[in-house]
Amino acid sequence: MIKAVRGTRDLLPPDTDLWNRVEAKVRELFARYNFHEIRTPIFEDTQLFSRSVGEETDIVSKEMFTWEDRARAQSEKAQSLSLRPEATAGIVRAYIEHRLGDRGTLQKLYCIGPMFRRERPQKGRYRQFYQIDAEIIGPPSAGSESPARDAEVLEMLAMLLDEVGLRGWNLQLNSVGCAEDRARYNQALREALKPVVHQMCADCQRRAETNPLRVLDCKVPEDQPIIEKLPKISQYLDEPCHKHFAAVRAMLDAVGIVYSVNERMVRGLDYYTRTTFEFTHGGLGAQNAVLGGGRYDGLSELLGGPKAPAIGFAIGEDRLMLALESQGEQPKEQLDAFVAPLGVGMNVHALKLARELRRAGITADLGDEDFRLKKSFELAEKAGAKYIVIVGENEVATDQFAVKNLASGEQVQVPRAKLTEYLRQ
Ligand code: AMP
Repeated sequence: MIKAVRGTRDLLPPDTDLWNRVEAKVRELFARYNFHEIRTPIFEDTQLFSRSVGEETDIVSKEMFTWEDRARAQSEKAQSLSLRPEATAGIVRAYIEHRLGDRGTLQKLYCIGPMFRRERPQKGRYRQFYQIDAEIIGPPSAGSESPARDAEVLEMLAMLLDEVGLRGWNLQLNSVGCAEDRARYNQALREALKPVVHQMCADCQRRAETNPLRVLDCKVPEDQPIIEKLPKISQYLDEPCHKHFAAVRAMLDAVGIVYSVNERMVRGLDYYTRTTFEFTHGGLGAQNAVLGGGRYDGLSELLGGPKAPAIGFAIGEDRLMLALESQGEQPKEQLDAFVAPLGVGMNVHALKLARELRRAGITADLGDEDFRLKKSFELAEKAGAKYIVIVGENEVATDQFAVKNLASGEQVQVPRAKLTEYLRQ
């Protein structure tokens, strides 16, 4: 038997009902904040990711699904392609390629779709997983650099998690400064690591040379006491970055959004500047980050585009669903009615009635005239219907239908004209 590949999975009903409900809420809420959808390809030129996410990150150095695409002609070189491990790089590429900056306004873009990382699979960690990704990007003249954008994005996320019904989330906040701050901080880390790095894990020894900031991502327990004693990023922020971060926090305080500052949270991608954040949830176990994001003011220029400061985030959909399920969220949508034809020739009448109900917005399922009444009842119950509506010869003749509430057992005759209203109550 051929099975789904390790780290991938099928999303089945009724779970997909919950996914769709959450996605519908997300689309509706994003529209209220004037975000619009962008759809980019799921594979891109490998360089896009190595240049933006960073060569030294776990994502690029060991987790990408990469292949050489056959050259079309002998004179051509094979092109290295990769499945997207995240969405921001593709969106910024599209922003540059289609000159979205020339529109002069902030581009508030979102996309929902699969991402791919060759990680060790476990609960909440898959090789194909889904993200809801949103970005605000634009020329500085449109206000893209303002701390008001950061506050708006964080406030929107708080609203979103509240409206999808997630309770007890935590927001962790940090600022990783601008490129110059990062250079000074990296230098300080390098110095501080020199005398201790030989006691650390192999990954840290390599990172200490190539990209010391990444040492802060280390999860090896023995390395933690050393990392705790390293210099803190806040001591290396310049005045404008300090002010920016203070302004973001002041706005969050003003709207009553609670957060904690975590100076070790530098996020696993190199393109971040200034504000970085993660929302975590207790119901998730080890992989407790529901979403992460931050500012990336230099990414467009790094990819050869115009100056386009930006901020964005990615919600891990798989984890959001796990968190919602952990607090008892029911995935299944309610089925209002099961329409049960009873006797030869009744299928057509049942179909007509179901068509009327469905047109009026009632969710209805349909049986078959070959089923005995007992079987129709069983099927209606299995389908989780609230009511069963019986369509037999008598009913058709009188245009009144026997309707039974499957939970209470109460049965009444309802005239066709009143049926929608009755089922809706
Ligand atoms: P990142 O792009 O690494 O900042 O990830 C953003 C969010 O995507 C995380 O907070 C997770 O919720 C989710 N995520 C990242 N990697 C995986 C994965 N392998 N499986 C499931 N969710 C993931």
